[in-house]
Amino acid sequence: MNGLAELDRTILLCRDYVAADLTDYEICQRLQSQQILIVSEHRNLRSHAGQTALATLVSLVSRMGMQVALDIPDIKLALTQPPLQGASIESGLLAVNEAFVASATITTRVDLRPDLTFALGDTPIEDYRAPCWRLTGGEWSGRIDMDGVGRSWPWTVEFPVGSMISAALAATEAFKFALRRLRLRSELNRAFLQASQSSGWDFALGATPIKGFDLGWVDFISAGAISQAALYVLARIPGIRMRGRIFDDDITGVSNLNRNMLTFREDVGRAKVHIVARRCPQLAVEPIAARYGNGSPELEKLAPRVVVGVDDIPSRWEVQRRGPAWLVVGGTSHFNVSSSIHRLGEPCSGCLHPIDEPGPNVIPTISFVSFWAGLITAVRLLQEAVGRPCPSGRQHLWLSPLRMDLPRAAMWSPVPARKDCPVKCPASRSLTQIDPLAA
Ligand SMILES: [Zn+2]
Repeated sequence: MNGLAELDRTILLCRDYVAADLTDYEICQRLQSQQILIVSEHRNLRSHAGQTALATLVSLVSRMGMQVALDIPDIKLALTQPPLQGASIESGLLAVNEAFVASATITTRVDLRPDLTFALGDTPIEDYRAPCWRLTGGEWSGRIDMDGVGRSWPWTVEFPVGSMISAALAATEAFKFALRRLRLRSELNRAFLQASQSSGWDFALGATPIKGFDLGWVDFISAGAISQAALYVLARIPGIRMRGRIFDDDITGVSNLNRNMLTFREDVGRAKVHIVARRCPQLAVEPIAARYGNGSPELEKLAPRVVVGVDDIPSRWEVQRRGPAWLVVGGTSHFNVSSSIHRLGEPCSGCLHPIDEPGPNVIPTISFVSFWAGLITAVRLLQEAVGRPCPSGRQHLWLSPLRMDLPRAAMWSPVPARKDCPVKCPASRSLTQIDPLAA
């Protein structure tokens, strides 16, 4: 079956909820048979944010193997949309038909009988006899609402973070819809897969300037899914400036296509760092095709800001031991996202994850969860660059993207210092120092 290898990790994650006797083939077929219609009229698609919402949603659902039909006008690209190429948003998307994963088509078929429809902004919708959500939002916030629920307004802003939030929320609904049509392991799991009438997310940075982002020097440890999602987001920020390096010795495999946002099927077998550098030339990221820590001392000297996108716990400790001034760590676990930042003197990533828990060799993943991890990572960098540092009470974020309509989908917390911190960071050492008055 075409696409089975590409969707291997996604199918594995579906097994958290579906009946154990379902075959990989049955799960794959359910994902691939889902038809998604995306509609937009001209005024919702001429802004960079509107175009970014569309490009991101198409990529996220295609990487789950689903079929996409576009009912949109052909409009010139407002700004670049890497990894897409072409002069218009429609031609750029049609050119990547079956390019993300095998058998995931992107067409303009008007005879499609959609299972789901997504509409950008306040685009009028004909009766497609399918559930429909609208994607709306602003600069730093995004939401989706079922058609007829809530107020809709057009996409007119240029700044695209909100549009990528709405795309991630919409892709989640497409996934849950597909899974609800399969037999589940337990009826109790249905709660996790329930459709959201309305859901949204706001980075609460409304007063933050949205121009002139200069991130300075940034090093990325790993060119995997989370780093690729973060760079996908950063490459869409108008006028952004950044220089840096990206370290990874890994080669793109078929099973990366379900979530690596800058990668196409034609990239299988190529070094991940070279793919990233080639697809985001505006970010001036130097590819280092080596594992961080295996190079020369000069290579190992870190930039003032460091992004770690690896799930491997000892690799995180290793970077943290080098004492970067500002570190963001993004990770995923099944349907959850973990994001933390660690400034000098603060409890470190070793305090947050003090135990190495080697997971299975084959890790279940899915497009929208990895994308959330990268999106949050990118926003943390943007926030830092404009002098809106994250309060210590928000050092760690645990996010459960499946049900963003529920109040506990996001949990912010400080990171407490631990005496048994494996990094032995200054915050942890201060706990073990003998109090001279008590002695
Ligand atoms: Zn520590």
